[in-house]
Amino acid sequence: MTQSSRISFNNPVFLGRELEYIAEAVNNRHLSGDGPFTKKVHTLLESEIGVRKALLTTSCTHALEMSAILLDIRPGDEVIIPDFTFVSTINAFVLRGAIPVFVDIRPDTLNIDESKIEEAVTPRTKAIVVVHYAGVGCEMDAILEIAGRHNLLVVEDNAHGLFGKYKGKFLGTFGVVATQSFHETKNFSCGEGGALLINTPDYIERAEIIREKGTNRSRFFRGQVDKYTWVDIGSSYLPSDILAAVLYAQLEERNRIQRHRKAVWEMYESGLRDWANRRNVQLPFIPPYCEQPYHMYYILMPSLEARQNLIMYLREQNIHSVFHYLPLHLSDMGRKFGGQPGDCAVTERVSDQLLRLPFHNTLTSSEQEAVIDAIHKFIF
Ligand SMILES: *Cc1c(COP(=O)(O)O)cnc(C)c1O
Repeated sequence: MTQSSRISFNNPVFLGRELEYIAEAVNNRHLSGDGPFTKKVHTLLESEIGVRKALLTTSCTHALEMSAILLDIRPGDEVIIPDFTFVSTINAFVLRGAIPVFVDIRPDTLNIDESKIEEAVTPRTKAIVVVHYAGVGCEMDAILEIAGRHNLLVVEDNAHGLFGKYKGKFLGTFGVVATQSFHETKNFSCGEGGALLINTPDYIERAEIIREKGTNRSRFFRGQVDKYTWVDIGSSYLPSDILAAVLYAQLEERNRIQRHRKAVWEMYESGLRDWANRRNVQLPFIPPYCEQPYHMYYILMPSLEARQNLIMYLREQNIHSVFHYLPLHLSDMGRKFGGQPGDCAVTERVSDQLLRLPFHNTLTSSEQEAVIDAIHKFIF
């Protein structure tokens, strides 16, 4: 066995003009939020994705918290979410007093199972938060139809899905709002960061206020009011313009980054498809009407034991692979809201079986060959 250098799961590196732009941000003498680089990122996201307004935030978690305030979530409101997601997707709403209603996922895309949403709706349901897992679009036609029928607001946690599309339309343009993450584990990153994308014009002014500590500071800077004052609840959700500078440099390289990630994804797919078919391993499913942004490559092993053994086997060869979300309904918090084993059977199984392979912006094809080769040799 060759003990070559470690093949890491993630590798957050600068790929373009990040350092140059950091220096420029420092020279601009505008280190707080909403400086020149933040504005460039806003414009880029608005024009590329086609949303009414983009607002950079300190994280996707914070963009979700802003969403919960914007949607006026109140104690006792029920919010429907997929059971298989990151804690922040629901925690942001629980902070406002919401009751989470966990819905199981589809066994193919691992997105919320739209056929199980309607039975989870009650008179107290206020919103559906969808997550485009691995950046593969949820069944938005069906979900928007259910939401329309029951007068529910739809939020997209699009942390994985920037530049992904569903039926030709960008993810992030379907909900009243959508959230992005620029955490170092995502396709584009500034270390910690996020964005709120707003598709409902009525929400724009209030979002700016919530993001600026509950003040109308943004209107003041635009000369729309002659002093700024406390007008609503809010917090400090603006990242420093230094981080926006890093992010802008990353987004400038979006075509190169996405081209590379597509090649990485396709190499795993062609290297593992026959093996997976023979060995009863499930690989990602991309519906023909979805364009994915190549956020991750996962495999579903036949059992928890096989998955755990493969993680250890790869680790022995200096290959770092990871599992992903645990079922939210079985977490300590989920159980406080009544979660019981068996409630979301698909999530419980997928959570045990899923393994994410090394996937990042500098992964080389020889590293990928080593990963694929090791997987082929794994005995289970
Ligand atoms: C990464 C992630 C988040 C959190 O993003 P932060 O920017 O770290 O707050 C939320 N939801 C999903 C689905 C994520 O993958």
